[in-house]
Amino acid sequence: MSSPDWYEDGLPHIWLPYSQMKTAPAPLAAYATEGSRIILEDGRSLVDGVAAWWTACHGYNHPHIRACAEAQLARMPHVMFGGMVHEPALRLSSRLTALLPGDLERVFYTDSGSVAVEVAMKMAIQYRLNREETGRTKLLAFKGGYHGDTLATMAICDPEEGMHHLFAGVMPAQHVIDLPRDEATTAAFEAFLNTHAHEITAIIVEPLVQGAGGMLFHSPDVLRRLRDAADRHGLLLILDEIFTGFGRTGTMFACQQAGIVPDIITLSKALTGGTMALAATVARRHVYEAFLSDNPEHALMHGPTFMANPLACACANASLDLFEQEPRLEQVAALETALREQLEPCRTLPGVKDVRVMGAIGVVELDRIADPAALRTRFIAENVWIRPFRNIVYLTPAFTITPEELRTLTQAIYKVLSA
Ligand SMILES: *Cc1c(COP(=O)(O)O)cnc(C)c1O
Repeated sequence: MSSPDWYEDGLPHIWLPYSQMKTAPAPLAAYATEGSRIILEDGRSLVDGVAAWWTACHGYNHPHIRACAEAQLARMPHVMFGGMVHEPALRLSSRLTALLPGDLERVFYTDSGSVAVEVAMKMAIQYRLNREETGRTKLLAFKGGYHGDTLATMAICDPEEGMHHLFAGVMPAQHVIDLPRDEATTAAFEAFLNTHAHEITAIIVEPLVQGAGGMLFHSPDVLRRLRDAADRHGLLLILDEIFTGFGRTGTMFACQQAGIVPDIITLSKALTGGTMALAATVARRHVYEAFLSDNPEHALMHGPTFMANPLACACANASLDLFEQEPRLEQVAALETALREQLEPCRTLPGVKDVRVMGAIGVVELDRIADPAALRTRFIAENVWIRPFRNIVYLTPAFTITPEELRTLTQAIYKVLSA
C-alpha cells in the first residue's frame, strides 16, 4: 500500500524516540483515535494496549474532555503564568491537593514528567540551601527506577539497567542502591544511610511499581520503610507518581495503599486523561515554607514558558470530573481480575519467567526478548498495539476498554508468545 505524500516527504526529517534510526522499522502512520482504538492511515484499526504511553486512562476522544477543551480553546488557549493566574489552574490546584493525602498543598506546574522531577530535585536541594544545612545535595534513588530522560533525572535512573548508562561519569553522580524489599537489602539500605545520610537531601522512588524499569512491583511495606527511614534521618521523601498516579495501581495514588504522605509528589502521564502535556510537582507545607524569606534568593527560580497552560489545565479538570462521574476505580478493579485470569495461561509458555498484575497493569516477563521491534511487528499483525521492551510484554489499557477489546489484547499476547 502506498504511503501518503506527507509521510514520504516528512519521514526523512524526523528523529524518533528511543530508536536506532539506522535499523528501526518504519513507524506506523496514525490517522485517528477513538475509545481504545488507533485508526491507521491505511484504514487498519488497532486495539491499544499501552494507552498512549500510560496516559489515556479514559480512552481516546472522551466527549467530556473534548467539550471542556473546545470551550477553553475558544476562550483562552494560553496565557503566561508569571504574575497572572487563571481559573483552570487554580481549580485544578484545589482539586489535586484535596485528592492528595496530608498537607501536600502547593502545586508547581510544568509541561513534562522529567521536568516535574527536575523541579522536585531542585526543591529538595534548595530546601537545604535555604535552611543553611550544608552538604546535603545528593539524591538517593533505587535500582530498577526511572525518573526521566533529562540530564539531572538520568542520574537517578537505574545506572546499569536504565537507558542512560552511556552517560555514566558525565553527569554528577547520585546514589542508586537496592530497594529495601527484604532483610538483606533493608540491612544494606540502613547501613548506607548511617554513613551517607548527612550528604543526602531526599529519597526518590516510584511507589509500588517501577514502570519503565520493567514494571517491577514492590509491597506497600517498602514504602512505609522508606518513610520511616526518611523521618529517622531527616530526609525528604519524593514519590514519583508520574506513572502510578490517577488510578493505575487500583487507588487514586499508589501512596494511599501504604498510608504514607511524601514530602513532594510528582504527577503527569494520566493527569490530563491523555490529551495535553502537563505535569505537577506538589510540595507539603513545610517544604514550601522553607522558601518563604525576606531574601529574594530563597525563591524557587523556575518557570517554564507554558507553565500551567490553561488548555492543559482544563483537560486535567475534565479528567478529574470523569473520575468523579464515572466508576473508574471500579473499572480498574474489574480489569485487575480480568488481566489475572486472562494472562495467567501465559505462565506455562516457553520462555515465560513471571506473570504479574497490579490494578490496570498486566505483565508477562520473559527470560529475554531478542528483538522487541520484531515482536511489536507480530502484534501489529494481530491488530493490537503492544510495545514490548527489555524482557517484558505488558498491558496498561484505558480503564474504559471493553471486555472484548481486552480479550483481543490478551489473546494476541498468548498467540504471539506461543508461536
Ligand atoms: C514517564 C515518566 C517520567 C518522565 O516523564 P516525561 O513526561 O516522559 O518526561 C518520569 N517518571 C516516571 C515514573 C515516568 O513513568
